Amino acid sequence: DLQGKIALVTGSTSGIGKAIAMALAAEGASVIINGRHEDKVKQTIHDIHSKHPDAEVRFVVADLGTEEGCHQVREAAPVLDILVNNLGIFEPAEFFDISDADWFRFFETNIMSGVRLTRHYLKNMLSRNEGRIIFIASEAAVMPSQEMAHYSATKTMQLSLSRSLAELTTGTRVTVNTVMPGSTLTEGVETMLNTLYPDEKLTIEEAELRFMKENRPTSIIQRLIRPEEIADFVTYLSSPKSSAINGSALRVDGGLVRS
Ligand code: NAD
Repeated sequence: DLQGKIALVTGSTSGIGKAIAMALAAEGASVIINGRHEDKVKQTIHDIHSKHPDAEVRFVVADLGTEEGCHQVREAAPVLDILVNNLGIFEPAEFFDISDADWFRFFETNIMSGVRLTRHYLKNMLSRNEGRIIFIASEAAVMPSQEMAHYSATKTMQLSLSRSLAELTTGTRVTVNTVMPGSTLTEGVETMLNTLYPDEKLTIEEAELRFMKENRPTSIIQRLIRPEEIADFVTYLSSPKSSAINGSALRVDGGLVRS
């Protein structure tokens, strides 16, 4: 039960972020949607309200790849109980083709957005002795691949960052954790699956199974993760029930990675 809690989910107009916003709203949290485009933000609020008519939902349109955008968010919502650093950019590319500008763009978007927001909100949470910070990293954080060196590097950095920040919460009721989703069936991944095997007329389920066999053979469940499955776990981490989980990096990847 997250009644009365204020939650911000960055990059919440699609995919995993939208599912998280929906799940937190379903539990009664007052949710702040963030995206860069007003039409998408409004569509997301409409979708949440059509499932949960009483949900309290606000929005901040801001590009969080910039300090200015982060500032806008901090101004609009100075106090939060739950911060989900979800937004992320992912563009497969050969290492030799990734420019300095691309490296900096990935760093600024995937890492600095979380740093700039957490610097403010963690301090506030510590002063109130209450709060949840959750980073959405990826399987790529621990299973790097050569065609996404910049993405993987930022995802590994999130693990280290969240562990360092968790140290600051020692002796308080604030927690900082990271969730590492395996490949998840978002709109973007569905588009990728639709273009992957152009010569065969595969259904999405057949393409999914083939993708798993060929690209994720170690997955125990041999299917993609659903955004709702990540969202349910994030909802648990957001709740008072998860107070013993702190400084952790938790995989929701169907057993892809063994440790
Ligand atoms: P997505 O592209 O659907 O969602 C990312 C959202 O972030 C988009 O709505 C995008 O508009 C937003 N965003 C990007 N840059 C932004 C910026 N500068 N300011 C504000 N918003 C911005 O993708 P997704 O798959 O839902 O990804 C969500 C998170 O989950 C990401 O951090 C991603 O790395 C991670 N992840 C995804 C998968 C997967 O298979 N889909 C697997 C592991 C981890």
